[in-house]
Amino acid sequence: MKVLSCFVIKPIAASLIATLLSSSIALAQKEFKSGIEWPEPKVVNSASTGVAPSDAIVLFDGKDLSQWKNGENWIIKDGAATANKSGISTKQAFGDAQIHLEWASPEKVEGTGQGRGNSGIYLMGKYEVQILDSFVNKTYFDGQAASIYKQYPPLVNASRKPGEWQTYDIIFNAPRFDKEGKVAKPGYITVLHNGVLVQNHSELQGGTMYDRPPEYKAHADKLPFELQFHGNPVKFRNIWVREFKELLPPEKASVANKLKELNKSQEPKK
Ligand code: MG
Repeated sequence: MKVLSCFVIKPIAASLIATLLSSSIALAQKEFKSGIEWPEPKVVNSASTGVAPSDAIVLFDGKDLSQWKNGENWIIKDGAATANKSGISTKQAFGDAQIHLEWASPEKVEGTGQGRGNSGIYLMGKYEVQILDSFVNKTYFDGQAASIYKQYPPLVNASRKPGEWQTYDIIFNAPRFDKEGKVAKPGYITVLHNGVLVQNHSELQGGTMYDRPPEYKAHADKLPFELQFHGNPVKFRNIWVREFKELLPPEKASVANKLKELNKSQEPKK
């Protein structure tokens, strides 16, 4: 019996001591709080397939293109809008934004390279995220689907077959310009193509042009975005946008300052 109790009681006592020790350490630890009073994040019902988040601006829900300039040029059928005659641009202007759109290149494969299922979304009318049928269709890499045209190829080719619906989820940080018109902060683009990361906070080098290297020219904080007509009947559906603002505490530098203050107060006094 004595031997048994020795084996049973000792481990119990050891675990009790360990528990007591760890809880007293926990009690001695002080929770870190930044002290910054952030505004409470707004509640938003998130998107499910085919449905925009509750705070999104729906730009095309399959019915009409009344929110687009030249929208009358495109053909609306079976809940989709097909590129035709000209590009279209939003009547509303946008700066920093999250944009969702769905597109499908023509089922009937015609043309090669840049001539197959070409369209594009021009953020602020200047910065193109390429739309192209890049399913077994070679072209220059910084011109294939989900490239930032002539600046960055996509990280991977996530293209689906011609005729299948594909999604772009774009996060766009618009460039900022100072009073002299110089770039104060470049633009950045992140893209998920069919849910796959293809542009990771890529730094825009300027406008995306066919015949010239990228170049910035100062412009307004908000501008319409455009969908390109490049001669191919690319289809679109379910287009929505959410504007966002940089999350800043009341004073821009206060996060850094608060942390400095906290570090100072925790330094041992000499
Ligand atoms: Mg294009």
